[in-house]
Amino acid sequence: MSADIPAAADPLFTPGEPILKDTIAEMTYGAVEAAAKRGAVALWAFGVVEQHGPHLPTGTDIYIPSARLRIVRKLLARDGIEALIVPPFYWGVNHVSASFPASFKVRPEVMIELMADVIASLGGDGFRRLFCVSGHGDADHNRAVFRGVEKGSTPGRIEAAFVADDALFARIGVDATSPHALATIPQPNPTPPPPFADVHAGDWETSLMLALNPEVVHADRIADLAPTNLSEDDLAEWRKGHDHARRVTPDGYLGDPASASAERGASDIVRDARAIADAIRLRLAGER
Ligand SMILES: [Zn+2]
Repeated sequence: MSADIPAAADPLFTPGEPILKDTIAEMTYGAVEAAAKRGAVALWAFGVVEQHGPHLPTGTDIYIPSARLRIVRKLLARDGIEALIVPPFYWGVNHVSASFPASFKVRPEVMIELMADVIASLGGDGFRRLFCVSGHGDADHNRAVFRGVEKGSTPGRIEAAFVADDALFARIGVDATSPHALATIPQPNPTPPPPFADVHAGDWETSLMLALNPEVVHADRIADLAPTNLSEDDLAEWRKGHDHARRVTPDGYLGDPASASAERGASDIVRDARAIADAIRLRLAGER
């Protein structure tokens, strides 16, 4: 096994890890070339800079999937699968948060073309498989990820797949049986679902950030944030985006940040990573 593959005894994550940790950006070109020659697969996270309420940084959707992929890499290594992480994509499509500041808006066609070029570069470097994950729930952003994966894949050179759960594929209208889609493997979850929608900078994302990167969380603001307690109809209105979203959630968050727990965030991130790593392992074995 290569020295680049983490040892099984490595902890799955340590709080405070930087976004570029364990990515190609920390490696020399020679080490990248050698890994591609050994048949390493590539992993790539699609986040976005976007408002995340009064307490979470605008880079939340970059921090979380980057950490998820670092754990996926370690889990794959335990099964003898070498993986390299591409530095995260962070200029994406913001439809829902578009009316808030610091929520940068890239046209989907620009994102898709950029993805195609980066995927072609990876293919040129000798990578044959690329697995992409998303850190941002916006439907238009995720449709762009899927279209970029389709456009960048070149049979016989590099095959890319968008790894996501069935619920996301259904919401964005992607056929989960497409060769460019890979559904995650559901994992047992001891936490009951929240009583109200909690989809943006609420309990779920705040818990993850408290576990992963507490140094960039404005923890002193969390206790004062009242739960939004929104219905499914409110959520549908929020998903119309722009000023609709700003009216439904004037403070930017949708959920219950004050209920967040770093301990739950730590178990959630590992469960998410297992769901991805299990799917990749089965795809590489030709079983999915
Ligand atoms: Zn987010």
